[in-house]
Amino acid sequence: MSATPSLALTGIGTLITNDPTAGEGPLGLVHDAAVVFDGGRVAWVGPTGSAPAADAGCDLDGRAVLPGFVESHSHLVFGGDRAEEFAARMAGRPYGAGGIRNTIAATRNASDSELQANTRRLLDESLRSGSTTVEIKTGYGQSVKDELRSTQVAASCTDEVTLLAAHVPPPEYAARVDDYVTMVCDEMIDACAPNAKWIDVFCETGAFDRDQAHAVLTAGMARGLIPRVHGNQLREGPGVQLAVELGAASVDHVTYTSKADIDALAQGSTVATLLPGADFSTRNKYPDARALIDAGVTVALGADCNPGTSYTTSLPFCIAIAVRDMHMTPDEAVWAATAGGARALQRNDIGVLRPGSRADAIALDAPSHLHLSYRPGVPLISHVWRGGALEYTGGHR
Ligand SMILES: [Zn+2]
Repeated sequence: MSATPSLALTGIGTLITNDPTAGEGPLGLVHDAAVVFDGGRVAWVGPTGSAPAADAGCDLDGRAVLPGFVESHSHLVFGGDRAEEFAARMAGRPYGAGGIRNTIAATRNASDSELQANTRRLLDESLRSGSTTVEIKTGYGQSVKDELRSTQVAASCTDEVTLLAAHVPPPEYAARVDDYVTMVCDEMIDACAPNAKWIDVFCETGAFDRDQAHAVLTAGMARGLIPRVHGNQLREGPGVQLAVELGAASVDHVTYTSKADIDALAQGSTVATLLPGADFSTRNKYPDARALIDAGVTVALGADCNPGTSYTTSLPFCIAIAVRDMHMTPDEAVWAATAGGARALQRNDIGVLRPGSRADAIALDAPSHLHLSYRPGVPLISHVWRGGALEYTGGHR
């Protein structure tokens, strides 16, 4: 007998499997469906009338069921908040990379237990929005000591830890950014790599240029970390093409792109992770999702939770923006927040519901996934299962 009793979800109005062999279209959509979880994995998917017996059952009464959202971009380890900066920006002050330094100061001043509690709070918030996998970046320490404790906090919360070693040059290195990069490559990555899976850099004017970003990413790769890049958020720049050149798992933001950037993404294996919450909260323009998708680029959606430019953990909110303002179809947006996020994390066991995949799923108080964009701002998540265990019920019995 497995540790977790098997569970049959029946009466599913619309099931999104993201397995095109299991149902209609790219989402592998099945109506009147059932799913059986066993041992933390999906054991069976099919029509509700044919579901095999299980230890327990849950009749979903026509609700939609999807793979849990895969949040592939978040900055949850930090101290303080920047509500006043947000209010000032809404009153007309433009966003630069400088505000990050306020969070660096607050993070350095926070105790380990304060960082841990804040990260846990946001992780729980993400779960209530349906995210069953959350990548967590460091990046508000920007010293060996503070990045190390940030990776330790992140590693206690997720397997998907990203060392954002070069987020913005900290104040003590503001006039000698190359020295900071040397310190990162010689000391910080060595100290932090055992706790991390990914290496990330903010390649943008005001943060790190192409050569500096290249040095940090290749130093991380030499220590077994896989690259991902923040690029092209505020203007066109070298981030996208650097990411493709290094075979990065993902390049994130991708708001300002040239035709050459889109061509490079289409020819490479790097996922374009779009973060509309950041563009929303900074009144930036939105990325050209249509041009990317139509060129054949794999697109993911992330919420980019961070205290400066996107203080939301809600992928449903990002899905609604992606459909309304980025002209993604509701199907494309849901795929990007589930299977797309899994691609961005190079995972094939999540973002999909097929036999053998992780039993990470959500149900909606709605008959189909279309309601995620059709009913913006409404808390539609009724159930969240992670590893087959019901972890959130949205107040339902
Ligand atoms: Zn970010």
